[in-house]
Amino acid sequence: MGILRNKRRREEREPADSRYGSPSPARAPYDTPSPTAAVELRGVRRRYGRGTGAVHALRGIDLSLPRGSFTAVMGPSGSGKSTFLQCAAGLDLPTEGSVRLGGTEITGMNENQLTELRRSRLGFVFQAFNLLPSLTVEQNVLLPTRLAGGGSARQGRAHAAELLARVGLEGKGHRRPTELSGGQQQRVAIARALVTRPDVIFADEPTGALDTTTAGEVLDLLRSAVDALGATVVMVTHDPVAATHADQVLFLADGLIADRLPRTDATTIAARMRTLATRPALAGAAA
Ligand code: ADP
Repeated sequence: MGILRNKRRREEREPADSRYGSPSPARAPYDTPSPTAAVELRGVRRRYGRGTGAVHALRGIDLSLPRGSFTAVMGPSGSGKSTFLQCAAGLDLPTEGSVRLGGTEITGMNENQLTELRRSRLGFVFQAFNLLPSLTVEQNVLLPTRLAGGGSARQGRAHAAELLARVGLEGKGHRRPTELSGGQQQRVAIARALVTRPDVIFADEPTGALDTTTAGEVLDLLRSAVDALGATVVMVTHDPVAATHADQVLFLADGLIADRLPRTDATTIAARMRTLATRPALAGAAA
């Protein structure tokens, strides 16, 4: 137990990249504090429960993601990916630490403020698309702006048409989501995520329900939102191929950022995942 504890402390002090020849051993490349960062986490911890039964899902995450970047987050089951996404997106509050989105500290916000922030400043893309079946495609795309009470109806329609053309769904604004294929529905979800020009788009397994070809198209779309529109994307995925579209891949293990790879191929990412999955668990160590 003592050895495990020391090992864990050492890992917390040394950013993972220092083990892979980082020119600056003091800070990993994903961890350079910046007042203009789209996403900034400092010392984020999330504990579920108390006392001996407590689960330490996040054990000290430090992260700074610049605007216009695409980050994939991977890790074995139970490593803290969902908890990370929920804390970073203001869907859950950390037990300790600070989360800033687009320069705004969110950890002291109340539920109404968080709802407003999510609506106006964040975009979400989920595995299950989460479109409203009773609304048309255009109404689904415009939902976040309508809820925020912004813009005229005419401006809204023009913006929706522009976004639908961008995601390859020109002329489909009057269809219902159920009339579209899964890939097309995910394109609608991406248009909806872009409509408020958010600080960050959080994507949770966005290609989990799609076949390989359609998944590739959806990922190209997220990539082009970053390259052409300057969007910032944070995507949780278990798929090494999906992660190849990102500028960097962060690997979570036992509630910590255990490793990082700059943009690379699927074989390298899969190999790194295997290393994490088979390394001795540290979960039993005190957090
Ligand atoms: P991942 O998404 O990588 O599978 P999670 O963030 O879901 O990981 O979970 C991290 C750890 O926190 C796991 O040990 C999980 O069992 C635990 N956990 C997640 N949510 C809760 C919860 N609501 N209550 C108690 N434990 C939880």
